[in-house]
Amino acid sequence: MDFLLPPDVQEDRNRFVRFLESHVKPNLHQWYREEAVPRSLIEQMGREEWLGFTLNGGGIEEHGALKQALRSEELAKLSPGVAVVVLVQISLGAKGIWLFGSQDQKRALLEPAARGELLICLGNTEPAAGSDVASIATRAEKVEGGWLLNGTKAYSTNAAMSDHALITAISDPDAPRNRRLSMYAVNLSAEGVKRKKLNKKVWIPSDLTRIQLDNVLVPDEGLVGERGRGLRQVLEIFTNSRLPISAMTLGNAVGAFELGLDHAGKRRAFGSPILDFQSKSFEAADLYSRMEAARLMVYKACWARDQGLDFQLEASMAKYLTVQIAREVSTWAADLFGAASVVQEHPVHKFPMDAWASSLGEGTQDIQKLIIFRGLMHKLAESEASQA
Ligand SMILES: Cc1cc2nc3c(=O)[nH]c(=O)nc-3n(C[C@H](O)[C@H](O)[C@H](O)COP(=O)(O)OP(=O)(O)OC[C@H]3O[C@@H](n4cnc5c(N)ncnc54)[C@H](O)[C@@H]3O)c2cc1C
Repeated sequence: MDFLLPPDVQEDRNRFVRFLESHVKPNLHQWYREEAVPRSLIEQMGREEWLGFTLNGGGIEEHGALKQALRSEELAKLSPGVAVVVLVQISLGAKGIWLFGSQDQKRALLEPAARGELLICLGNTEPAAGSDVASIATRAEKVEGGWLLNGTKAYSTNAAMSDHALITAISDPDAPRNRRLSMYAVNLSAEGVKRKKLNKKVWIPSDLTRIQLDNVLVPDEGLVGERGRGLRQVLEIFTNSRLPISAMTLGNAVGAFELGLDHAGKRRAFGSPILDFQSKSFEAADLYSRMEAARLMVYKACWARDQGLDFQLEASMAKYLTVQIAREVSTWAADLFGAASVVQEHPVHKFPMDAWASSLGEGTQDIQKLIIFRGLMHKLAESEASQA
């Protein structure tokens, strides 16, 4: 067993940190003020091959999960809100096409997405269906040459800035629950698409947008994957995306922790630095230990994915543990700054809000527990069978 990061992964992280220093850090203040991330960031990331895929001589190669996780963590240490923009582009949009798209869709959507020239998001959640994905109400009616989509996708990250969205819809209303949905690549400039950016207070500067679909004609080539397999497909996208979102949530925790620790070492009260009070140093020790334990689970899940092993259980445990610790650490760090922490411009302010949001992407804590318990039962059954 080897817990050291492979040298190429370390080198990749170091190069990425240098990229962040020059292309993200100096601009953060402006992006937060404008509550928007410019497309030019994604374009730049595409040019430097930071968007999860490498295009080589007509082929496409996906980057390893561990490498991508470390990038996600580093970006989230600076800004979970920028990290989620990048995550959606790579791990929901492009990844959906990578997993289920046809060769033509890969050429038309994935390649430009990997180059940062086309933005693609995912719209699944609806006003009346989030965790219970199979209960969505958006309809896709088969018509000559394509599909007519009607419905509302209530919360889609990046949808204001994206060109396309992967949309789930009921294509086969009379089929069994796991065969009713299909997935479509919808051009967000098509006739009948309306978008409304929501006024949210988490994951700034990303956008959270409602997509309204009124008789939107999606050509036959817009069906992604297999008709009737949209539920399985979107759940598989979420399972994969739990790896980078766990790493991003870990970054949220680490970013807050480092700020808090630095401040507590400098700020004096009652004649000594706050960190010299044993109650505070013990809290730091406790949180750091649990952050590192969560990190091990993130790395284990990525390792399993990179080995081609089943990683569903580990991905959910990583998501669950990182959200728990990020919520605790971020509030702890904000508390250390006292009143200053409530001012929106303060660097620590965003972390507790963003840790709260991180539960919602790719399944809430309750949904992770459902998956973890199912995985646990499966393991127990396997071990009983092997002993029989
Ligand atoms: C900032 C942000 C960005 C988002 N981006 C996207 C995006 O890009 N694309 C997209 O499609 N969606 C997106 N979402 C939506 C997100 O995926 C959903 O909010 C999430 O899946 C939960 O769904 P819901 O909000 O409908 O809550 P509900 O499903 O109604 O859940 C409400 C509560 O009930 C609990 N609950 C539900 N089922 C169970 C159960 N079986 N057992 C116990 N408890 C349960 C949940 O844990 C939760 O606490 C985003 C949300 C936010 C806040």
